Amino acid sequence: MKMVFLGPPGAGKGTLAALASVRMGFAHISTGDLFRAAVKDGSELGKKVKNILDEGRLVPDELTIALVRERLSRSDAELGWILDGFPRTTGQAEALETIASPDWVVNFDVQDSVILTRLTGRRVCSGCGKIYHIVSMPPAVEGKCDVCGADLYTRPDDSETSIRTRLSAYRSQTAPLIEWYSKKGTLVTIDGTGSPESVYERFVEAIKA
Ligand SMILES: [Zn+2]
Repeated sequence: MKMVFLGPPGAGKGTLAALASVRMGFAHISTGDLFRAAVKDGSELGKKVKNILDEGRLVPDELTIALVRERLSRSDAELGWILDGFPRTTGQAEALETIASPDWVVNFDVQDSVILTRLTGRRVCSGCGKIYHIVSMPPAVEGKCDVCGADLYTRPDDSETSIRTRLSAYRSQTAPLIEWYSKKGTLVTIDGTGSPESVYERFVEAIKA
């Protein structure tokens, strides 16, 4: 099964994609992770991506599509995949159609005020990448990862200014996709508020129907 998870930053797409990929045996493909991997390898491409992310801007289509195309060609994506954070524009959606056509496009609906609370409290492990939240999912020891003991940090793109920039970029660029996929008949919209487990239940019900 080929799926796209759609929704504003902080809608819980990543958490849900991680849950669903483990339970259903599909590859979880996050463009955020693809970007961070490119930044880490320190190439010219990676440096470009780093500057864009630090400023809270969206990575250009051409660059993103090249990274996604390469990722979907790997063997672990053969059985199925969940694309998390891609496509973000109708241009990207058209480009994706030339690689593969998603069976389901799942739209996670969450209000801006909920997103701000979620994202400003988010902390990420500098060692293994595990995601915490200072209110809803705190580590046992403040500032330290439960799994590997490394320091937790706040991503530069999780500052309030950066979040507001990302939300307005989402509303203007990604929201038309909801219309685009709706016309194709592959769109399902689910309520993205509440615990990951309750959102997962809604998701399973929606793709069963
Ligand atoms: Zn860790």
